[in-house]
Order: sequence, then structure tokens, then C-alpha cells
Amino acid sequence: MEVITKDHAELAENFNRDEERVNWHDETLWWVRQKRDKMVHQLPEWEQLREAASAIKNNVLGNLHNYLQQFEANAQANGITVHWAADAAEHNQIIHRLLNEHQVTRMVKSKSMLTEECGLNEYLHEHGIEVIDSDLGERIVQLAKEPPSHIVLPCIHKKKEEIGELFHQYLGTPLDVSDPQVLTEAARGHLREIFITRKAALTGVNFAIAETGEFVVCTNEGNADMGAHLADIHIASMGIEKLIPEKKHLGIFLRLLTRSATGQPITTYSSHFKTPRMGQQMHIVLVDNGRTVQLGREDFRNSLKCIRCGACMNTCPVYRRSGGHSYHNAVAGPIGSILAPNLDMEKYKDLPFASTLCGSCTNVCPVKIDIHDQLYKWRQVLVKKGLAPTGKTIGMKVMGATLSSPTIYRLAGKMGRWTLKYAPFAVNNSFNPWYKHRDMPEPPEQSFGEWYKQNRGSK
Ligand code: SF4
Repeated sequence: MEVITKDHAELAENFNRDEERVNWHDETLWWVRQKRDKMVHQLPEWEQLREAASAIKNNVLGNLHNYLQQFEANAQANGITVHWAADAAEHNQIIHRLLNEHQVTRMVKSKSMLTEECGLNEYLHEHGIEVIDSDLGERIVQLAKEPPSHIVLPCIHKKKEEIGELFHQYLGTPLDVSDPQVLTEAARGHLREIFITRKAALTGVNFAIAETGEFVVCTNEGNADMGAHLADIHIASMGIEKLIPEKKHLGIFLRLLTRSATGQPITTYSSHFKTPRMGQQMHIVLVDNGRTVQLGREDFRNSLKCIRCGACMNTCPVYRRSGGHSYHNAVAGPIGSILAPNLDMEKYKDLPFASTLCGSCTNVCPVKIDIHDQLYKWRQVLVKKGLAPTGKTIGMKVMGATLSSPTIYRLAGKMGRWTLKYAPFAVNNSFNPWYKHRDMPEPPEQSFGEWYKQNRGSK
């Protein structure tokens, strides 16, 4: 996997080189957002559902240790083996050990952003274990040797012609075939063979119910079920924030999740896993990996309510036009930009600035996370810690001084207008990233202040 050394703006510039792709990416995600809106408007109780979900998650976050212990006890009583992982390394080691104990060298895996966060595929590959992603979008990016660019639509950045080329190369489909129906049939045949020959399957967890010790996995393709039901050993990876207290709460979240994610009324498969079938082993790994640190950050703990619907990405004007890979993190978009600095402030210091703070993410979030407020708060944390980009820090200081003095403000305005008129190359040059995708405005002859004085000041 490529080591990323560029920041969001530089990576977004790469994505923006292909204007046709950017326009189509933008329009496709906006179309998903509109599908979500149509669904939402059909439910008069939508805001009540959001309120309820947010309140339930508040309760979970306030009593997390109790619910985790309750879940562990009930899951164990159901015959599930529960493991605890403090961080990504421990998560990967536990799974490696389980696979070794069963002499497994190939595993099928359904979508799990947590395993992306932990770098599980790469870790197991280095230890001689092959992982086959069974979600179609994930399989496509896996074949392309790329990370997912969206938590719900992992290959949304890829054109169907590119997928056709990949399938021709790896799955033997005819050259130049890019018909989605044909490609999906080819993937189906390819994955079917994998499902019936693997001994181990890993799934993610959408919701875990403390009251019953069961967990729920939502997919549209049934791939989690195919993997888990055919395997001798089923391992589920779960972030510790995925708990809900009681089974009766599940309906609220299921109604919110898919409407927000894809504009469907419900996911095609919402599968409950409670007890291993006869002869099967079922394991669940409960992973912290920075979540308890985030829980302790008062301003940011709400981000742990996230149910990974992706709605904040679909609506975000920056995400839609910069692409998921520009966030250089497993979870991209607005929510990724508040989760990532919690894990590594230095590495992800650019992400809270990759936003217009328009608040659209907060408006669509089904669990009412104050996303844009948290982005703004992260900026303040990063500036206080001296991690904001030097250019931005100096720029803000200069702007602060300019805006606090009418004399300097007027002088700066005059200089700006003069520069744009007589020396535009000082601004319109390839070193100015802002200019690269925009046309500079014609400078006005005079400032508003000057105009006002001239025309109205004496009346
Ligand atoms: S932050 Fe909200 S909108 Fe974004 S993925 Fe999470 S639940 Fe969905």
C-alpha cells in the first residue's frame, strides 16, 4: 500500500486533474443525497427518530463500560468467544492467532471499515494469509490495489470502463465489456467459488445489542451471510462504540441507517448473529483503538455516535469534489476529519481544514452529530498546539491585524486593488493553489467605503 506524504489539498489536486471524473463523482453523490432526501420526506417522524437515536447513543457513551460488560456476558452465554483489543496491532494479532490455530491461510471478509482502520489486510498479507474482500465495491478496489474511497460506496471514484478493464485482467471477462450487469455476474461467479472454499470468514458489526449478546450486520449483497454461514470460523470485528442497549432500539437505527446511506427504506440483508451453528466457532473482537481517548474529549465524544451511513460525505461539497482518497484515512469526509486527528493529530492536522463549515453534514447526520462544530473546534485545538500550517497561521495573524485597524484595512484594500489591476501575476500564478481552479475577479475602481463616502456620506 502506498505511503501517503501529501496533505488533503495536494491529494485533492491530483483528483481534480480529471475534470470529467470530478463532475461525475460530484453529481453521482449528489444524486444519492437527493435519494436520501426523498426517503426522509416520506417519514413525518424523521426528526423524532434522529432525536431518539442520538439520545440512545448518549446513554451508551455515558455507560459504555456497563453495556460492554453486559454484552460480553450475554455473548459468552450464547457461545460466542469475546476478545478485547486495545489498539489496531492487538486486533490484528488476535485475528492472526485465531487463523493460525485453525491453519487458515485464506479468509473471506465482508465490509468492515474497522479492519481498514487497523490495516488488517496488509498485516495478514505480510504474514502469509490471503484476504478476499467479498463486498463487490471492496473487491474492485482490492483488485485495483487501492483503499476504499467511501465507507458505503468503496469504489465510487471508479468509472465502469475501469472496472471492466480490471475484471478483464483478473476475472477473464471479455475485453472492453463494461456493462454493470455482466460485470456483476462475473463477480458473483468469482466470489461464489471463494465462499465455498474458505474455512474462515470475517464480518464487521453494524450494531451489537447488550441485552441479548447478539450482533447485526447490514449488507445489500448478502456477502456477509454467505461468508459467515459457510465458514468453520466466523470472526466479527467491532469498534466498542457500536453497542445499543436493547433489541427494541434496533428498529430506530435500521430505519435511519439505509435511508441516510443510499436512500433505500431498509438494507437488503440485516442479519442477526447470536450463536454459532453446530461445529462452528464464532468470535468477536471488541476494539478500542483510540475510542476511549475520544470519549474523554468532551468536545468530540459525540463523534462516537456515528453509524457509518456516509450521508455526511454525500452532501459535503469538499468531499464530492476532492474524492475520498484525498483524506488519506480509512474513513474519509467530514466524519473522518474529526475522527482521524484523535488517532494522530500530527498526521491528520490538515483534515479539519478540508471543509467549508457550511453545516450540511450536521443537517443530514441521522444521529445528530455536531460535525461542523467539531471541525471548527479541531481547528482551534490544532492552532493552539502549533500544528496549523505555517502559511495559514501567518495569514490569520496578518488578517487579524488588518481587520482590527480601519487604517490598515483601507490601505490593504487599496494595495489589493492596485495589485490585481497592475501586477496580477503576483496573485494569478501557479504557486497560488486557490487560483488554480478559479478565475480572478476584476478589481473594482473603489472600495465600498469610498463609494459610500462619495455618494451617501454627506446626506
Ligand atoms: S457522522 Fe453522521 S452522517 Fe456521517 S457517516 Fe456518521 S452517522 Fe452518517
